[in-house]
Amino acid sequence: MTPTNTDRSGTSRRSLLARGAALAAAPSIGAIMAAVAGPSPAEADSALQDYAPVPPSALGPALNSQGYYVGRVERNLYWVTDGTYQSAFLTTRDGVVLFDAPPTIGHNLRRAVDEIAAANGVSNRVTHLVYSHHHADHIGASALFGKHVVRVGHAETRRLLLQYNDPARPAPDVTFQDRRTLRVGGERVELAWRGSNHAPDNIYIHLPDHDTLMLVDIALPGWVPIYNLNLSADIPGFIAAPTTALSYPWKHYIGGHLGRLGTRADLGLHQQYVTDIVDNVKTALATVDPTPYFVKYGPNPWAAVKTYLDAVTDQAAAPVIAKYTGVLAAADVFTTSSTLTILESVRLDLGFGSQIHP
Ligand SMILES: [Zn+2]
Repeated sequence: MTPTNTDRSGTSRRSLLARGAALAAAPSIGAIMAAVAGPSPAEADSALQDYAPVPPSALGPALNSQGYYVGRVERNLYWVTDGTYQSAFLTTRDGVVLFDAPPTIGHNLRRAVDEIAAANGVSNRVTHLVYSHHHADHIGASALFGKHVVRVGHAETRRLLLQYNDPARPAPDVTFQDRRTLRVGGERVELAWRGSNHAPDNIYIHLPDHDTLMLVDIALPGWVPIYNLNLSADIPGFIAAPTTALSYPWKHYIGGHLGRLGTRADLGLHQQYVTDIVDNVKTALATVDPTPYFVKYGPNPWAAVKTYLDAVTDQAAAPVIAKYTGVLAAADVFTTSSTLTILESVRLDLGFGSQIHP
């Protein structure tokens, strides 16, 4: 990774003003995160809950005064981050292939491409835009690249985007069902759909000549998943995805989130975290006695179900939070949410603990 145009000295007046304007005009989550992510964050409300500090291992390179970092992954493959979201691009002799266009990075994608293209004396024309999946938080800046860029994605991504009809996310023109090799300017990108996971259309983007796999919204290097295992549609598919990812040869992992790239060890740590939750959920389901909850709330079965399953969740999550605090960032923030999701999947998808009335 080659830091370029990195400003470690602090936040410029211009970017502070831009942050303030973004907050005042439209307090989107992205704008707020951009405003507070820098070295001079907005003043914190002391009434809000404190969480464990973010371990240094979770952090990536410093952002420049524009609010982004662009660095080399390997040879002519680069990645871009705003500290929360990630995109990547490949410079080729025939133009640039962009992978995802998160709206939080937005116009900084263009700046990052221009910066690298100028430094290397290659074309800055974005000719292709590959979608990892249909979610707006990863491709919502697609329209910035105009009508003439060739958009590439899964057939289901196209179907969903045509259905949702969001002008910010034009449907892909080039689609595939299981596999497609994308060749641009002598470079090779292997796209594959290996079943649903985080989303029904989430694909594996393998760059075998760059030792890199891009798989978005599965493992977030250095961090636990956000709510409900990254708000995933298919929990067994989500849990299985890292094994599929590790079946590819690669050294660099682009997870789509937060401030740094990943390694194979990061995927292993993510797998261990999820496995620990699954194991603890099974133990808690077998040991927490539901009787008191159903006795107490007899005529209100939903109150009984909630308090019982919350007790199972809390028992399963507590040792995982203790084990991973200081290891994976935000273990104390989101583990309980993901534990409830795993609990419901273990019960409903796997049928664990399901009993037939005698
Ligand atoms: Zn997503």
